[in-house]
Formats: sequence, structure tokens, C-alpha cells
Amino acid sequence: MSTPFIIAIVIGSVVLGLAGFIFVLAYVRSRRLDHLPPRPELRCPSCNSEQIDIRTSGLWDGEDASGRATHGIFDYGICKQCGSRCARYEDDQPYMPTDEEWQSHFKPIEKWEQQAKRWPLAEEENHDHDA
Ligand SMILES: [Zn+2]
Repeated sequence: MSTPFIIAIVIGSVVLGLAGFIFVLAYVRSRRLDHLPPRPELRCPSCNSEQIDIRTSGLWDGEDASGRATHGIFDYGICKQCGSRCARYEDDQPYMPTDEEWQSHFKPIEKWEQQAKRWPLAEEENHDHDA
């Protein structure tokens, strides 16, 4: 093998290695930025079942007890075992949402779903709102 060929291989492998390193670094970083470790199953607060029919999930942000900005994922669902409403914002802390909370969470979603079902009419309704 000639020297220029060896140099090319060395440079090539260094560049490839560097690219791989940067890729791994970016991957680890994005994983870390997620702040979203694997989540435990949502458990029913009343019967402890994991058979929850999750109705909605999404991202939330707010403040923690000490007033610092925080965020995470919320879930709202219905227990398949006992029919209780279940919700959680913090991992491992399922609770039974109050009627008020359940209504205020699902009302906009149901309204949107109904509008989506009556699609051509919903379009007109939206125009009325804009006027
Ligand atoms: Zn249950």
C-alpha cells in the first residue's frame, strides 16, 4: 500500500469516527433534553388495575411546588376494571379527577370531535365565529 492511500484511510476513519461521535453525542443530548424516562403504566387510583383505557395524552407545562418551570406528559383515561376516571400529571401519581376537572378537560375535545364529525357544517360555524 502506498503512503497516500494509508493517509486517506486514516483521515477517512477519523472523519467517520468523529461523525459517529457527534451523532452519539447529539442522540444522548436529545434523550437527556427529553426529560422523559420510560413511564410506568397508569394505575387506577381506586382498584390499582393497569387496564386503563387512555382517552387523551398530551404535554403540559407549569410550575412545581417551589415555583420552578416544569413540564411533563398528562394522561386521562377510564379504568376498564371498575370504570373510574383516572388521570396523572406527575409519573407514579395517578389520581381521580373531579367532575369539574374531567369536564373542563374533555369539553373542548368533545366539542372539537363533534365539529369534526359535522365537517362541512363546522366550517360554516367557524366562519360565524370569525365574523
Ligand atoms: Zn379501577
